[in-house]
Amino acid sequence: MHKANPLHVDKAKIALYEIRFMHCSHCGICCTETEMLLSKEDIKRIEQKGFRKKYFLKIDKNGYAQLKNHDGYCVFYNIEKHQCNIYPDKPSGCSVYPVILDEEIGIIIDDICPEKTTITPKEKEEKGKTVINLLKIIDTEAKNRC
Ligand code: SF4
Repeated sequence: MHKANPLHVDKAKIALYEIRFMHCSHCGICCTETEMLLSKEDIKRIEQKGFRKKYFLKIDKNGYAQLKNHDGYCVFYNIEKHQCNIYPDKPSGCSVYPVILDEEIGIIIDDICPEKTTITPKEKEEKGKTVINLLKIIDTEAKNRC
């Protein structure tokens, strides 16, 4: 019978790890005075967890939906535990962070993230595509609100 070689590594699995394994130290810097934009899907998902819009959502003058802050942090940031209270359901923009769009340069890794060097080029590329698609959706939703 053929015995699996324990040293054999599945290339598809390596690709997955390359995409997913950024190291987050939960420093909370990205949750400080957040300006994170929300899609309708993000809002619905958070509401389904029992949070009311008036607790976490604000709409700016251009129709963009954003997370609210409280005492200098996102309303969902738990200062004592250094963690996000809605981590599995957090906004898509938080999931792809620290990959962001710079209007002049394009897709970049946010310089303020202390773990920015743990992101692989593959992860940056994949998350960058998500950022572009997400912003298209968010722009359309903002225009429709005005
Ligand atoms: S939703 Fe969570 S991850 Fe996103 S800014 Fe708020 S606390 Fe941070």
